[in-house]
Amino acid sequence: MANSDEQRVDPGTIWAVLRRILSENGRDYVGTYAIAISCLVVVALTTAFMAWIMRDVVDEALAKQRGEVIWSIAGAIFLAFFLRGLATYGQAVALAKISNNVVARYQRRLFSHLMELGVGFLGETRSAHLAAQISQNTTGIRDVLNLTITSLARDTLTLIALLGVMIYHDAMLTMLTFLAGPPLILALRYISRRLRSVTREVVNVNSRVYGVMQETLQGISIVKAFTMEDQLRDRIDHLVSEAESRSNRIARLTERTSPLTDTLAGIAIAGILAYAAYQAVYNNVLPGALISFITALLLAYDPARRLARLQVNLERAVVNARMIYEILDVVPHQPDVVDAADLKVTDARIVFENLSFGYGETSPVLHDVSFVAEGGRTTALVGPSGAGKTTIVSLLPRFYDPTGGRILIDGQDIAKVTKSSLRHAIAYVSQHPYLFEGTIADNIRYGRPDATDDEVKEAAKLAYADEFILEQPQGYETPVADGGSSLSGGQRQRLSIARALIRQAPILLLDEATSALDTESEVLVQKALDTAMEGRTVLVIAHRLSTIARAQKIIVMLRGRVAEEGEHGELAGRKDGIYARFLKMQALGLDGDAALELNTVHAGKGDA
Ligand code: ADP
Repeated sequence: MANSDEQRVDPGTIWAVLRRILSENGRDYVGTYAIAISCLVVVALTTAFMAWIMRDVVDEALAKQRGEVIWSIAGAIFLAFFLRGLATYGQAVALAKISNNVVARYQRRLFSHLMELGVGFLGETRSAHLAAQISQNTTGIRDVLNLTITSLARDTLTLIALLGVMIYHDAMLTMLTFLAGPPLILALRYISRRLRSVTREVVNVNSRVYGVMQETLQGISIVKAFTMEDQLRDRIDHLVSEAESRSNRIARLTERTSPLTDTLAGIAIAGILAYAAYQAVYNNVLPGALISFITALLLAYDPARRLARLQVNLERAVVNARMIYEILDVVPHQPDVVDAADLKVTDARIVFENLSFGYGETSPVLHDVSFVAEGGRTTALVGPSGAGKTTIVSLLPRFYDPTGGRILIDGQDIAKVTKSSLRHAIAYVSQHPYLFEGTIADNIRYGRPDATDDEVKEAAKLAYADEFILEQPQGYETPVADGGSSLSGGQRQRLSIARALIRQAPILLLDEATSALDTESEVLVQKALDTAMEGRTVLVIAHRLSTIARAQKIIVMLRGRVAEEGEHGELAGRKDGIYARFLKMQALGLDGDAALELNTVHAGKGDA
């Protein structure tokens, strides 16, 4: 088992998640919350005032027909609405400000957390799914905060104020309306439990939908070339229908609260109306107080219903929030050892000592691998596909840690130095020249952020990239189109070499491209690589015979072991040697693929 596994931590129950969101975020927004809550108090009081004034409207203005009070009542009602409008605006803006900040903050946190995680974790997780999950779930945290604040603060305050009016008019009736409570709570409990699992399923299915879409778009040329359209469409169709039916189920469950609350409210309000009419007709009570009571009750209905549904809505939001915490809580593996020192490079001599390694639970990939990459020299790793060459190269920057043995750079065990100093000593040119968001200059500067403009140009020149960069519409400041698709393979490759050059790292890891470029690009890329390799300790996964033949040392890998080691002339001369056999096959004009996957014979022939 490789010790690169990240640990997943269970974020805990709904209430634990809720408490955590509040404790992680609440404090920073105290000021804004104070503004929002003062506005909410105004909303609650003005709402209650409207119910309260109904008595005067009915008794004074309508029943007793006192013309002189109408103006003051009308004025007061206008003022109450006006204030309520202002306060509603104030609280909405304040809460939106908090929401947007919470989303932004979690996006930042997630991004830096994802970059902390090891290559192992990210390699095992479908990146498209992960991205889709994040985009669906960050809103969950915002909703948790919003729901708690708006429902708890606004609705509770409004409800309390309205209850005040109701109790003031008729305490007995108020108590009676509370009888609707218990059956409601029981029903809502049941609904929220069912919702929990469906919500999670919806997010998962949606992530797969977005994931397939993203992967399809990224690989659109393969999709079209292999006419995979129909198969992929079927797949998406199926997933989309699944997501659709689950979302419908969520809607049915959530909305099931409405018939429930409405029925109960209907019973309560109809009963009270009947009672009011009875009082007015038989006891000659002025209807003002009861009208005021009923208005308060009607106004209280919405906040009460929202409060009743709070748990149901919260349930959904907390599921989303939990999924975010599940990602945030993955513990980054292999922290630096206590008091790790910085790596000090002198010759950059790398010793691989009895390395063994396996990915996860699978059978070991490397067995007792030992060899030395001499400082300032080029060591070529060759061997058939699956022999373990890439694995060896990923152990050096500690993308993974070996299960046995160690790697020394100038005598220092790389497991004992800080990872950042280790990685600063290494530049890496991969088979796939990734370009990132930003301009061409930015993409070179990612190699060393403090590089000056002149250094960027210098690196580009050394990588034979200067000429084509200047031909771009905005030269160095040309934004890189989606993944660099407007640049040719050779041009992208040279940009990634420039990025490695500007890093000025003593060690260069090179994964030579297997796919052949056009001849002109090939020559330029080769020249750029020659510059990059000069004076550095180079570990190259080599496919071209030209590269292999010029390396000072060749390590022939077979099934996770070092099969042969030496320089080109020596290995070529060995009777029955693996490397010699490969060369013979090439001389016969056979493709070397079968034996060693030392392909691109054509490129290599000339200079071998
Ligand atoms: P090479 O670079 O020589 O083609 P690799 O180092 O890529 O070989 O692979 C060596 C072995 O490790 C192969 O059997 C491959 O299937 C396995 N392997 C490579 N990467 C992973 C991974 N991320 N997870 C599990 N197994 C892997």
